[in-house]
Amino acid sequence: RLSKRLEMIAKQVPEGSRMADIGSDHALLPSYLAERGKISKAVAGEVNLGPYQAAAKQVRDAVLGSLIDVRLGDGLAVIQPGEVDVITIAGMGGALIAAILEAGQDKLAGVSMLILQPNVGESFVRTWLLEHSWVLIREQILEEDGKIYEILTAVPAQHTELTNGQLYESRILGAGITANEELQLKLGPYFLQEPSAVWFHKWKLELDKLEMIRGQLARSSQQETRSKEQLIESEIKQIKEVLACLQ
Ligand code: SAM
Repeated sequence: RLSKRLEMIAKQVPEGSRMADIGSDHALLPSYLAERGKISKAVAGEVNLGPYQAAAKQVRDAVLGSLIDVRLGDGLAVIQPGEVDVITIAGMGGALIAAILEAGQDKLAGVSMLILQPNVGESFVRTWLLEHSWVLIREQILEEDGKIYEILTAVPAQHTELTNGQLYESRILGAGITANEELQLKLGPYFLQEPSAVWFHKWKLELDKLEMIRGQLARSSQQETRSKEQLIESEIKQIKEVLACLQ
């Protein structure tokens, strides 16, 4: 059985897509989609030999070799320009996902959808999308086995009526609180419009972490550390204000 997280990602992949799953590990996502006839072909990319071999074994065992090509290589280097319509990158940090997209830009022409699931650092992904004319069309959040995951789906700006300007336009949340672009890149423009219980839970946990870091920094007497503490203090204040406004 697929995890709830991978199942939710699978649901975002349009029927009949040619997909590339980058960092595919055991190739569970493309296998699941191929077995159900939901994709016309897949490339499962892996940079590490162990996961690459696991993916190759999975595809062999499931007799899906005619639909899924398992390839060893870094990020988007495993695909040719124009080879796929949809790219999924899941289960790694947001900074790494953004770096993979940045390094593989020449492979993105012709790609009509990116489905990205950063484990942490979602703002790196949103920022990369914004700076490269991809428009977020959906944000989802789920909790599974005590972990919270976000799934970000984006399309090229020319494929949607929505513009990044509209998506990230400053929004008044409540008395004196405005969500500017920076705040939306961190918290998520759709989540801010329709915050779910899981999203509130995520940010309460993030606040706990930030408060712990602040506490550690407060014990230091170094000037540099104290200014970091002040930055965290203002981040905490800002997040708390937003949460209070939306609740
Ligand atoms: N995508 C699967 C999922 O969401 O369940 C597997 C996630 S696994 C935690 C992350 C995988 O990404 C690892 O197997 C790792 O080898 C691979 N990976 C990390 N950096 C990569 C890169 N630059 N290119 C391709 N794969 C990469």
